[in-house]
Amino acid sequence: MTNNQIQSIKNLSFTQLNEWIKNRKYQDFRSKQVFQWIYKKKVISTEQMLNIPQKLRDEINNYGHFSLVEIANPDESIINSAKKYLFKLIDGNYIESVLIIEKDRRTVCLSSQIGCGLECSFCQTAKMGFLRNLTVGEIVDQILFISNDISEKITNVVYMGMGEPLLNYENVINSAIIINDKNGLNIGARKITISTSGIVPQIYMLADLKYQFKLAVSLNSGYNEKRSNIMPINNQFDLNSLIKAIKYYNSATNKKITIEYVLMKDINDSEDDAKMLLETLKDIHCKINLIPFNENETGFVRPTKETISKFSEIIKVEKDVTIRWSKGKEENGACGQLYFKKIFVKM
Ligand code: SAH
Repeated sequence: MTNNQIQSIKNLSFTQLNEWIKNRKYQDFRSKQVFQWIYKKKVISTEQMLNIPQKLRDEINNYGHFSLVEIANPDESIINSAKKYLFKLIDGNYIESVLIIEKDRRTVCLSSQIGCGLECSFCQTAKMGFLRNLTVGEIVDQILFISNDISEKITNVVYMGMGEPLLNYENVINSAIIINDKNGLNIGARKITISTSGIVPQIYMLADLKYQFKLAVSLNSGYNEKRSNIMPINNQFDLNSLIKAIKYYNSATNKKITIEYVLMKDINDSEDDAKMLLETLKDIHCKINLIPFNENETGFVRPTKETISKFSEIIKVEKDVTIRWSKGKEENGACGQLYFKKIFVKM
C-alpha cells in the first residue's frame, strides 16, 4: 500500500484544506471551522462537528479515513512519567509513540516512518527494515490521540520515534506546519524538534526553511570510521560533510543544534572518544545530550554510571551537556522496543 492510498482530510494543511473546501463550493469560513474541530476540539469523528453541514461531513468521510491510528496497547499506564503507545494503522502496520511528562511539559515523541532503512547497528527499529513513510495525517494523529488520552494539551514534539524524519521530508515538514499552525495544534516552532541521523541535503533544506523548527543530530561518534561502523549512513554523508551542514544550519538560522550521543560500552565511551567529540564540535553552536544506551537485542551494552559521568565531565568543560536517562527503559519503551514486544513476543 502506498501513502497516497491512505487518504484523509488530516493530510491537508490549512491552506490545502481551504482549497479543498472552496473546490466543493463551501464558504471560506468552513475551512477554519473544520480545522478547529480537528485540531482544537480534537474530535474523533465528523459526527461531532456540530456546526458543519451534514453534506460536508459526508464529503469528508467519503474523501478518506478520519481516524488513522488505533490503540493496540490499551492497558498501558504511565510509568516513570512516560507512557508508550502502540498504534495500529489502517493498513495493519504498527508504529509507536511515547508521551513524556516533565513538570509543565507534555512531550510527544513521534514516529515518521514504519521501520527504518538506515541499519544503525545499535538500533532496534533498524531490525524491522523499512516498510513505508507515514502520511502527514498519520504523524499528526499520534499527537491528537495522545492529547485526548490524557485530556491535556501537548506542549513539545520531538521526531525521535521510529524512522528517519528527513527521509520522509515532505510529510514531516507538512505535519510540523500543521502542529505549528495557530489554527492547528498551535505549538511553537521552537518546541518542535526534528532529529536526524545526518541526511545532509535535507539539513540544508531545513536550514533554509522559513519555519524555525529545531534540529537534533544523532552523532554517536566524532571518529569518521567508527561512525560508519555503527551508522552506515555515514558512508554516504561522512562526518566532514555533516559538520559542514550543521555549521550552515547554525549560521542560516542563528540557532543552536542538539547533538545526541548514545553512550555504548567499549564502543564510544572512552576519554579519547569524549575528546574527539569536543574536537569535532569545536566550532559548532550546540548542546549535547548524552543518552546511556538502552539495552536491546543488538547486544550493545550500557557503560557504568562512573564511565558515563566521567565522559560527561570532559564534555562539560567546553559544552552544555545533559545526561538523558531514557524513560521507560525497564518496560522496553524506548526506540522500537515496544513494537518488537508486541509482534514477536505477544503474537
Ligand atoms: N533517525 C533519527 C530519529 C530517531 S531518534 C535519528 O537517528 O536521529 C532516536 C534516537 O535514539 C537517536 O539519537 C538514536 O541514536 C537513539 N537510539 C537508538 N537506539 C537506542 C538505544 N537502544 N538506546 C539509546 N538510544 C538509542
